[in-house]
Amino acid sequence: MDSSFLNWPFFTPDHRSLAEQVRSFAADTFGETGFEHHGDIDEECADIRRQLGAQGLTRYCIPEEFGGHHNQLDVRSLCLIRETLAYRSGLADFVFAMQGLGSGAISLFGAPEQKARYLPGVGSGDLCAAFALTEPEAGSDVAAIATQARLEGGDWVIEGEKTYISNGGIADLYVLFARSEDVPGARGLSAFIIEANDPGLDVVERIDTIAPHPLARLRFNKMRIPADRLIGERGQGFKIAMATLDVFRSTVGAASLGFARRALDEATRRAQTRELFGSSLADLPGVQTQLAEMALDIDTSALLIYRAGWAKDSGAARITREAAMAKLHATETAQHGIDKAVQIFGGLGVTKGSVPEALYREVRALRIYEGASEVQKLVIARQHLAGAR
Ligand SMILES: Cc1cc2nc3c(=O)[nH]c(=O)nc-3n(C[C@H](O)[C@H](O)[C@H](O)COP(=O)(O)OP(=O)(O)OC[C@H]3O[C@@H](n4cnc5c(N)ncnc54)[C@H](O)[C@@H]3O)c2cc1C
Repeated sequence: MDSSFLNWPFFTPDHRSLAEQVRSFAADTFGETGFEHHGDIDEECADIRRQLGAQGLTRYCIPEEFGGHHNQLDVRSLCLIRETLAYRSGLADFVFAMQGLGSGAISLFGAPEQKARYLPGVGSGDLCAAFALTEPEAGSDVAAIATQARLEGGDWVIEGEKTYISNGGIADLYVLFARSEDVPGARGLSAFIIEANDPGLDVVERIDTIAPHPLARLRFNKMRIPADRLIGERGQGFKIAMATLDVFRSTVGAASLGFARRALDEATRRAQTRELFGSSLADLPGVQTQLAEMALDIDTSALLIYRAGWAKDSGAARITREAAMAKLHATETAQHGIDKAVQIFGGLGVTKGSVPEALYREVRALRIYEGASEVQKLVIARQHLAGAR
């Protein structure tokens, strides 16, 4: 994996040694077979989480006060870890990402007691975290959330359904967004912590996607939780969700960057070793053009991702525009780059078990979750227009 980008001024010596630690761990642990899955996916995830915990990597998902490495979540570290894990294993990237996304609202907005109760376990890898925002009728349109939370005798009572929840059914804790106020749209939402053994949580179905990840549709049946499970203030749920996504959106771009780098390395090796028409594939100008486009897209994605991370880590309150650009560009170009790798591999590229085939499936969802590409364009345009006013 090309690591020359680590010389860019966005990084500190600590980032460079972290990248080397993750590179070496991922190479030793996943080798060339990290995209193959044979057994139970839930157990595989639990095993990966234990290993990420033992390596101290999940501690990057929580603040220093509760066992983390940095005072605040360090976006560049999160991006470096995701990029480097994704190069070897989509599932390892997924497990790491969910520890951060699933606990991010608690790190950013939780009360000290909430942080003390949950974050050390998330950081050690002992607790599995999930983020429950999407509903059957509220995906891109977050403000349409219908799950209800109402105060009854001092407890919150939760009623509704969530879908496409990563780690659904295997998580120990969920950050859940529900409508607590009698106002429509974004202003009526609040964020809550749900524990897996709270009575009333049903896993309605497990959802199979083109790249295996634990995903589920969940039903909350008159679930009663204590009042102190509210995160932040009533009615702040939308703000909490968006601020959490602000931190983690660039990291989705970073995961797709790891997939794109792997695709370029695989395609380059194949092009240099595949003989045809009396020379190698790499000698054909058409193939060179494809490799050049892949290399260019990788560098532009990396610049956008680490620009966003650097801005956030340097104290920017919000990086909405930068994170949206990083996610949009990196996920879209990774998809195109991986498609080029499949093409360079020919029939082998669509054969089950080949790395380009796995990458082709792994990258697809990243253009949809945490804000589809079209939504990112809206976000960028709104920020641009507001700045031009
Ligand atoms: C693998 C995977 C993991 C996920 N994990 C989680 C999770 O952990 N927690 C969670 O809460 N959710 C999760 N999701 C759900 C994900 O966030 C939603 O799928 C996403 O927000 C899109 O919502 P939707 O699927 O309902 O599509 P819809 O909202 O119905 O949108 C469909 C399509 O419409 C287009 N579109 C949407 N808005 C616009 C617009 N304004 N302008 C133009 N076109 C538009 C886009 O192309 C979009 O893909 C996950 C999804 C997947 C696939």
